[in-house]
Amino acid sequence: SSVRRTPLIAGNWKMNLDHLQAIAFVQKLAWTLKDAGHDFNTVEVAVFPPFTDLRSVQTLVSADKLPLAFGAQDVSEHESGAYTGEISAVFLSKLECRYVIIGHSERRTLHAETDEQVAAKVAAALAQNLSPIICVGETAEDLEQHGPSAIPVTQLRAALAHVSTAADIVVAYEPVWAIGSGQAATPEQAEQVAAALRAVLVDVLGEDVAAKTRILYGGSVKSGNIASFMREPNVDGALVGGASLDVDEFAAIVRYQK
Ligand code: PGA
Repeated sequence: SSVRRTPLIAGNWKMNLDHLQAIAFVQKLAWTLKDAGHDFNTVEVAVFPPFTDLRSVQTLVSADKLPLAFGAQDVSEHESGAYTGEISAVFLSKLECRYVIIGHSERRTLHAETDEQVAAKVAAALAQNLSPIICVGETAEDLEQHGPSAIPVTQLRAALAHVSTAADIVVAYEPVWAIGSGQAATPEQAEQVAAALRAVLVDVLGEDVAAKTRILYGGSVKSGNIASFMREPNVDGALVGGASLDVDEFAAIVRYQK
């Protein structure tokens, strides 16, 4: 397809940086990218701080009119009520979050999040006009047993259970074995799975939505390997963990094409 997809570089901070550190980080990131002459319309930049930082980041971004998007790392499937400790998509939307990460492998593994919960969270996010970044990916054993695309394809189909055709979603392919391991997938591996995921999007949401939807690669992305992923036709950006915590390194990833 000839539809142009604006690349998205997303920084998943995980449980790092308190709200004071977040303010300093976001200011420095914006200055660094502006100084480098970064065109934010050409490559979109988003950060994903812990919940407790979001109000501070929102205040800063809005006061200084920074061209950065931000979002949360998780969301409740429920809108409100007796759910101690949970955060509603309604709250995130009021905080001007554009995105929310859903179904990250750390949530699936450490918090036993199921495909059904992921699908419910995707629906909850879309109901509040938040764009879900749906994370899928196979473990090393999955890869050995089922091959490269089977698990990510199954997870994506499940996550889209309640999604209508016009949905504004992002997909992130993150092989579990590549996350935080320093052992990134090869660009060819990422492309193979991204192409399979795009075929799912065509099947479930139709050609038009599939052609517009960004598919990110995640797992040990750094400034030294980002360009090789971005050359692949079905890879439209990156979800970056460890390397998103250093301003200069993250800015270099954003500036992969100079
Ligand atoms: P990593 O994490 O870049 O540190 O591998 C990626 C992620 O978990 O989103």
